[in-house]
Parts: sequence; structure tokens; C-alpha cells
Amino acid sequence: MLKMTRHGPVTRLLLGRNVAGRTLYLTAAYLVGDLLIDTGCPRTARQLEQALEDLPVRQVALTHHHEDHVGGLARIQAGAPIPAYAHPLALGRILDPPRRLAFYREVVWGVPAAARASPLPDELAAGPYRLRVLHTPGHCPDHVAFYEPREGWLFTGDLFLGERVKQLRPRENVEATMQSLRRLPGSDYTIFCGGGRVVEDGPAAVARKLAYWEGLGEQARALAAEGWKVDAITTRLLGREGFLWLATGGDSAKRHLIRSFLG
Ligand SMILES: [Zn+2]
Repeated sequence: MLKMTRHGPVTRLLLGRNVAGRTLYLTAAYLVGDLLIDTGCPRTARQLEQALEDLPVRQVALTHHHEDHVGGLARIQAGAPIPAYAHPLALGRILDPPRRLAFYREVVWGVPAAARASPLPDELAAGPYRLRVLHTPGHCPDHVAFYEPREGWLFTGDLFLGERVKQLRPRENVEATMQSLRRLPGSDYTIFCGGGRVVEDGPAAVARKLAYWEGLGEQARALAAEGWKVDAITTRLLGREGFLWLATGGDSAKRHLIRSFLG
């Protein structure tokens, strides 16, 4: 593990790899009471297992089925029969994960082993805390967030990630993500991201993210109405594709975001 930090009663476990002094990637798992939220990727499963030796994990909740969130679960369950919960749409992918992934995903995160999970209840008890399960599709259909209203914690998986996200994968649905963001609680909360960021004053950050995407979507649709094609709109509004596009073989791309705005 790269780092463990405390945020009041929440423990953040930052998982990832350092190569030549640079962090190649980061994923985060969070411990609340005896509940672990997400488990990192297959390549950091050993890091997570070592970190959990001294921590009281008795249950696991997953924000969605992607390999950088479920990847440590099989190893955790190999050591002890710990129950895990996920959205019903995620269960098949967790029990029977794909044998192959996009090349960069296999290299960076690894292919997850099969693990067991049950459908999430509406609310999870974690010691003295109660986490409400919010269905937040868009990044993928089985995405959920976990909300502790009394403490003002919101665990967002890959729903938020940042205020000015410019790349999407082809299957992501930006309008559904925006709808999920609009349905988030109105009261104050701190965001705990799947990538490890902790954002205080979450509602203000979500409002800025929505305003950025709403403006971008409006401009994209106006240009499309004038007859502009997706690639030309992308370059005009967001500039050329960059490192992320290259590193992911075109899977994570600005043009996917623009295409998603155009429906
Ligand atoms: Zn994801």
C-alpha cells in the first residue's frame, strides 16, 4: 500500500504502484466501522491484504463492478468468509469476471478473479454508522454511492472523480451521470472519491462539475446543429486527444465525452 490516512473516523487506504519514483496510478478503499468500501485492483490485492491484517473488516461494499474496485475481493474472501455487497446488476460480473480486458487495463490493473457478492440492501450498518445506498448510474449501470447523512460522508466511487473531467470510456453515459449527480443529497457532505481524492464542501464541487459539463454539452449540441462532426467539435472545444487517449489505446477519449453529449 502506498499510504493510509485518517479523516475523522474514516480510514483511507491508497493503493497503487510507484515506478521510477512516479505514481503510476492510485485507487482508494475506505474503512468505515467494520465496512470496507471498494477493494482496489487485482495488482494491489496483496497490498490491501497486508493492510487489512490489522484492521477490523467484517464486510465489503462495492461501488461498481470495474476491476479497479473489485480486484482485491477474491483474496480477502480467500482468507475469511467475509460477505460482500454490490448492486444486483454487478453480481454476475463479480462472480464470473471477463477473462480478458482491454490491453491497458490488463497491464495496469490486472484481471480480477471470481468473487462472491450479494445484492446491496437499502442501508448498510457499519458499527455506529448507517450508510444509505444511492443508485448512481452513468459511469456504468451498476454504480452506487454510499451516504452517511449524520456524518456527512459520501463515498462516490467513479461518479465524481474531478470537476473538469474531459475523457470518458465509450460505454459511459454522461447524461445519466449528470442525472445521478443532480439527485445527490442537498445537505452538506464530504466526497470520498474512488481515485483517493477527499473533497470538502461536496455540493459546491458537484455544482461546479455540473455547470462545466452543462456548458460543454450546450456548446457541443450547438456546433452539431450547425453540421459539425464529432471529431471537429472535440478538437474545437477540448483540444486534441492527449496522453490518456494514447495510453488507453483510444478507450478513454475526449471524443467519447462529446459523442455522449450528442446522444
Ligand atoms: Zn469504474
